[in-house]
Amino acid sequence: MSIIRNEDGIVELGADRLPGSVWGSNLRVILPTSRWVALSRRTAQRAGRVCEVCGQPSYYGQGIRNPDCHEIWEFDAMMPRPVQRLRAVIALCGACHETQHSGLAELNDRWESVIATLCRVNGWDRADAEVDIERSRARYRELSTTEWDLDLGRLEGWVELDGYPDLVIPSEDRAALGNTFDKTKRKLSLIVGADIPLAIWTW
Ligand SMILES: [Zn+2]
Repeated sequence: MSIIRNEDGIVELGADRLPGSVWGSNLRVILPTSRWVALSRRTAQRAGRVCEVCGQPSYYGQGIRNPDCHEIWEFDAMMPRPVQRLRAVIALCGACHETQHSGLAELNDRWESVIATLCRVNGWDRADAEVDIERSRARYRELSTTEWDLDLGRLEGWVELDGYPDLVIPSEDRAALGNTFDKTKRKLSLIVGADIPLAIWTW
């Protein structure tokens, strides 16, 4: 996990990139669009429409937009089965958000922007940021060799997923949740209640 609040309450931002084995498997495709939009809006509202890491608005062209809704995932490789667990969602400005998808940012020629954001938020110099990005690359390589079960237990009381009462979906079944990367739609049926559990914003 690369966004942490230390014991002094200060948020530290590390570069991150999701393992290739889970690309495209996320809340945006799993939830009905209206529910994903509602979750994103509530997340932005609760954060006062600024980034929860750097406190800045999300600049967009000449204007400002709502910060993005970003999932904080934990990867737990312990047996019996490795699991990717939803910890929380967080409001992030575009600049902080791209540090969490730093591999994609590199592909999109946004490398310098990632370096600048890590330096701005953490008070690092360039060498610190480059070391941290290299750490995220190594972690990516390690995590990408594993197929991860998905634990959405954080959504309990809000989401019911047919056949998975504990909201843990084995890796071999994840394709049925849909995927934004290969553009497949969810095949499993899902019920979403009215009230988003507060736990989803606790991190
Ligand atoms: Zn930010």
